[in-house]
Amino acid sequence: MSSADRLREIEAEALGRLDAVADLDALAALEAEVVGPGSPVMEARRGLKDVPQEQRKDLGRAINEVKTALEAAIEARRADLAGAAEEARLAGERIDMTLPGRAPARGTRHLVRQVWDEIVDIFMALGYSVADGPEVETAYYNFDALNTPTTHPSRFDSDTLYVEWGDDPEGVLLRTQTSPVQARYMEQHPPPVYIVSPGRTYRRDTTDATHTPVFHQMEGLAVDDAITFADLKGTLEHFANEFFGAGRSVRFQPHFFPFTEPSAEMHASCFACDGSGCRTCSHTGWIELLGCGVVDPNVLAAVGYDPSAVSGFAFGVGIERLAMIRYGIPELRFFFDPDLRVLRQFR
Ligand SMILES: [Zn+2]
Repeated sequence: MSSADRLREIEAEALGRLDAVADLDALAALEAEVVGPGSPVMEARRGLKDVPQEQRKDLGRAINEVKTALEAAIEARRADLAGAAEEARLAGERIDMTLPGRAPARGTRHLVRQVWDEIVDIFMALGYSVADGPEVETAYYNFDALNTPTTHPSRFDSDTLYVEWGDDPEGVLLRTQTSPVQARYMEQHPPPVYIVSPGRTYRRDTTDATHTPVFHQMEGLAVDDAITFADLKGTLEHFANEFFGAGRSVRFQPHFFPFTEPSAEMHASCFACDGSGCRTCSHTGWIELLGCGVVDPNVLAAVGYDPSAVSGFAFGVGIERLAMIRYGIPELRFFFDPDLRVLRQFR
């Protein structure tokens, strides 16, 4: 058998094995064996110079043809195997586009905050601005500046949470109302004043259906020349109609607050039954909404205003209370329970 025939045999045998190669590693091994430096083809090429002249041309051509054919077949097989490997990889990473997506869990404003924002919006539309103050407050701003005598029961430490600070055991406290913001604001700003001050307040209460040690209030204050009870009434009637819907009637019952005179509790006609009586209004037709009154001249004088030149009205409303009334929430503590089912109803 001539050397050229022997190479053709090697070629045929290698091509036959090529189909059985299962992966790229096995292909590389076969490639080294049949066209690598130690392969019969390459050895034949190296020995070509020793071949007699008359045979050299044919053998040289055969060597080139076999080498070229083997290399081409190996490359083709390599492309096949690489394609199959890529397909297997993609199949492993396949995404089922028909599955429903997993939405990120979105937060939402707490119901207290929603109602808070809503009340603020109503008063901002009337030209009021929002004033803020500290939650750890001095007894002066929380009580004295608001005309609350030292004997008033709200000052007892059974009602108020005092903070240990300095020498006076009853000098610093967690504010029991947002009213101190009024005194602080008036000290810093000359009249006219039109503000609301929403915020967190604290009382020494044990949690039950209608009490929690933390709750939210919004105070309002208007001071200008010639403000009267009629301004108070018109403003708060507007508020009741905005918050509970048009058609509310309001009524005012005499009450007492240290910092207003006269003082009143405002009731609005029940939004649920329109005054005929239902569970929401305890069958009275009326809902107690807030406390209010004409600012006591002593309060104006305490911040340096001239009570003979300006007058004002103030009101305070419980934010949770308004939410409970409007949404029929039976217990105050639901606002602070870590039970998201309650809050999810008010997204
Ligand atoms: Zn009713």
